[in-house]
Amino acid sequence: MVIRLVAVAAFATLVACVPQPAPDSDATPAVAREANDAVDRRQLMADLTILAADDMQGRGAGTPGGERARAYVVSRFEALGLAAPPSGRLQPFQRQGRRGPVSGFNVLGVVRSTATPERWIVVSAHYDHLGVRDGQTYNGADDNASGVASLLELARRLRRTAPRHSVLLVAFDAEEQGLSGARHYVENPVVPLAATAVNLNLDMTAREDDGVLWVTGTHQNPSLRPPLEALAPVGPVRLRFGKDTPQDLGENNWVNASDHAAFHARGVPFVYLGADYHADYHQPTDDVARIRPEVFAAATELVLRAFRALDEGLDR
Ligand SMILES: [Zn+2]
Repeated sequence: MVIRLVAVAAFATLVACVPQPAPDSDATPAVAREANDAVDRRQLMADLTILAADDMQGRGAGTPGGERARAYVVSRFEALGLAAPPSGRLQPFQRQGRRGPVSGFNVLGVVRSTATPERWIVVSAHYDHLGVRDGQTYNGADDNASGVASLLELARRLRRTAPRHSVLLVAFDAEEQGLSGARHYVENPVVPLAATAVNLNLDMTAREDDGVLWVTGTHQNPSLRPPLEALAPVGPVRLRFGKDTPQDLGENNWVNASDHAAFHARGVPFVYLGADYHADYHQPTDDVARIRPEVFAAATELVLRAFRALDEGLDR
């Protein structure tokens, strides 16, 4: 346990030493500027690897492993200089989950905009996973250590190039137990839902084995599609729209598949970005070793450009 804590503390120190450049103010559109700012692949993979390590014990909500994962996410939010909302860094909750009562903590960070400070984009990724079941540890590298790592990279870039809208970054807990953290959040929102222009939800951003990062939610909110349609592929990864029409049935319909569903139920527009099902989905084999860093980095770059496109396009 001591070794584990020292390792996490060492990483926190490492990231804390990274200098934070002042937000630039040139007139180039943020979408174009983003192309010149590379993903920090080493940090991206470090975040993924730490969250999906065996000692996180599958990050089950309400377990010691989940607590360690939360401590790590908090340390990264702090290192990145993300402000806490007035209500605090953590949002605790207790609810009836899919497998009984569940307690958890959402982790919150804020980047205020000076351009449109009172209109918000809520970017989310759940940090919990399935924990240990029948003696097997479900590390959840793609689901969803990847989305959290992508969110942290987005946070780093927002500190370099300020967004047009204010941004609330949320690492949700207990997604795997009936979207419990997200459902608690929308009942107790930190920023008003009426002032929330869109929820951008990241869940499984690493395993684009087929070269596709899916965009779900523009069938429900068509005005969000044109800015995203303009995005070119990044390396081996391209966007594809779908999994959200009445013709998409069963597990091929993702409108209610992850935390964005809680926002959708309250009438908040959503965009969900994620990879398709793969053989390791919800298996103990969803490990870091199955992730190709170049694909994950490309997908994360596409996530960042999608964020900028939405941020720029919301008021057009
Ligand atoms: Zn997930």
